[in-house]
Amino acid sequence: MNATPRNTHLSYSRLTRFEQCPLSYKLHYLDKKQAEPGIPLRFGKVIHAVLENLVREVVVDERTGPLSEDHAVELFREAWTDDGLAGVGVFEEGLHILRDFVREEGVVHHRDVLAVEKEFQLSVGPFTVLGFIDRVNWVDDETVEVIDYKTNRQIFTREEVDSSLQLSLYHVAAQRLWPWVKRVKLTFRMLRHGIRQETTRTAEQLADALAYVETLGVQTETAKEFPPRLNANCIYCDHRMHCPAYAEALQGRPHLICEDTRDLEAVAHEREQVARLAKILYARKEELEGVLKAHLRDREELVLGGVRYRMFNTTSHEYPLDATLSVLADATGMSRDELLGKVAVVEKKALDAVLKDVGKRLDKPRVSLLKAELEAKAEKRHSPRFWAKEAG
Ligand code: SF4
Repeated sequence: MNATPRNTHLSYSRLTRFEQCPLSYKLHYLDKKQAEPGIPLRFGKVIHAVLENLVREVVVDERTGPLSEDHAVELFREAWTDDGLAGVGVFEEGLHILRDFVREEGVVHHRDVLAVEKEFQLSVGPFTVLGFIDRVNWVDDETVEVIDYKTNRQIFTREEVDSSLQLSLYHVAAQRLWPWVKRVKLTFRMLRHGIRQETTRTAEQLADALAYVETLGVQTETAKEFPPRLNANCIYCDHRMHCPAYAEALQGRPHLICEDTRDLEAVAHEREQVARLAKILYARKEELEGVLKAHLRDREELVLGGVRYRMFNTTSHEYPLDATLSVLADATGMSRDELLGKVAVVEKKALDAVLKDVGKRLDKPRVSLLKAELEAKAEKRHSPRFWAKEAG
């Protein structure tokens, strides 16, 4: 262990870069290669900048009221132009995200926003960890809500939210910045999905997180090797163009081919490699299709390398219940109840939406009972599904 670290100031992004992929850390911080962020990263930064300015203005002007959608769009256009982003599809996504955000915020009271893009410095062992929190809201005299905006396409699993190192650090930072705080709500606000993924931390979890941060800090100081860690997010890596492992992955060849399928260790090893490659290749395919789709917005067809590319609409059918039952009842002579039993089922997604709404009006035990009753009535179908997860 290095007693006197060279780098006593560690940003959260430095730590996570090392944790996610040591090679990316080396390319970025040691070799100082020029980062080439892809569109998703740049888009995320643009949206963050707009939200920061939009909410900060409310605080500075001491306003209370709804946010202005027009102003959000104006800020977006400015930030978009400054960044030099391009692509009408991505632009439209940005507009949707901002309009939804303004709507979901409702009335914003300037006094409820404690901080926007708040810088923090935490002493952790020999290190000072630096970072910024997107937003902190006052909840009550003992509670704050720490919010991190995310533009990810995929929402996090419960496990990811409950173990996020970022949120743990934000919790500790909030307690140090506002010493009166007794409770901290931690929220990933998933901007594309209009949902908040919330969690909390115990004192023990926070102590573990700090110990882990210190260990990571020491690792960044003492590491002699910086292996690539291929993962599904390589497509977003701002150094992927300098990464030999990524270039190799795009060729889709696993390193180890299992020749004897009786050797289950080898089977599993190759399976994991192939699964990782498949994710990387799929993400690359999506990225390439995004480029082609953008060109298909203003022309009907592209013919490239002997392949035709077109966009076409697919049609799905939904039959309104009442109208459909009356047509069927007239034609068959069956009663509505009989028909209902044959053709109607309640989709889980729609039911969950209703239960979520009900949950706001009824107390918890009543909602739990209701869910249990519905669960007992549900017809369950089981189908075998393969499951794989790295053993911790
Ligand atoms: S592309 Fe993937 S493996 Fe390569 S440096 Fe980036 S994160 Fe690491």
